[in-house]
Amino acid sequence: MGFFDRTARGMLMGELLSGMALSFSYIFRRRATINYPYEKGPISPRFKGEHALRRYPNGEERCIACKLCEAICPAQAITIEAEPREDGSRRTTRYDIDMTKCIYCGLCEEACPVDAIVEGPNFEFATETREELLYNKEKLLANGDRWEPELARRLEMDAPYR
Ligand code: SF4
Ligand code: SF4
Repeated sequence: MGFFDRTARGMLMGELLSGMALSFSYIFRRRATINYPYEKGPISPRFKGEHALRRYPNGEERCIACKLCEAICPAQAITIEAEPREDGSRRTTRYDIDMTKCIYCGLCEEACPVDAIVEGPNFEFATETREELLYNKEKLLANGDRWEPELARRLEMDAPYR
């Protein structure tokens, strides 16, 4: 571009005006951003978020302490201890997940024969200390109670593909 062309464009503020025109053209388009955390985008029913232990509708724990999830976990993040109850059923006495080790692969969920351990839709569980990410059975069951309607809906949607 020659000297006179550059001078003319500068004096007429052509670049400034074209930039403003581009900005104004976006006012009437659909927004590409959302107002997080007040708005959240859609996530897949297979999203691998925070873990939860589920119960049956009568309140009984689903987990039968088979330890398949513990065996398959590639990060060795799950620790289970179990013993039979008085009625002969087998239940865990300890179910821990070290969330700092977990790689969110979902293999524990895939291995579970009774859909007890699942990875839910919650991705907002950042903590200020490492200790808060050492989940025990109480915490996992509480997560299950909190998210059960959503967890059940996700499992139902995914059922035809399992
Ligand atoms: S998601 Fe993967 S790494 Fe995390 S606890 Fe389950 S099996 Fe282990
Ligand atoms: S969560 Fe599922 S796979 Fe893990 S011990 Fe319980 S029943 Fe077995």
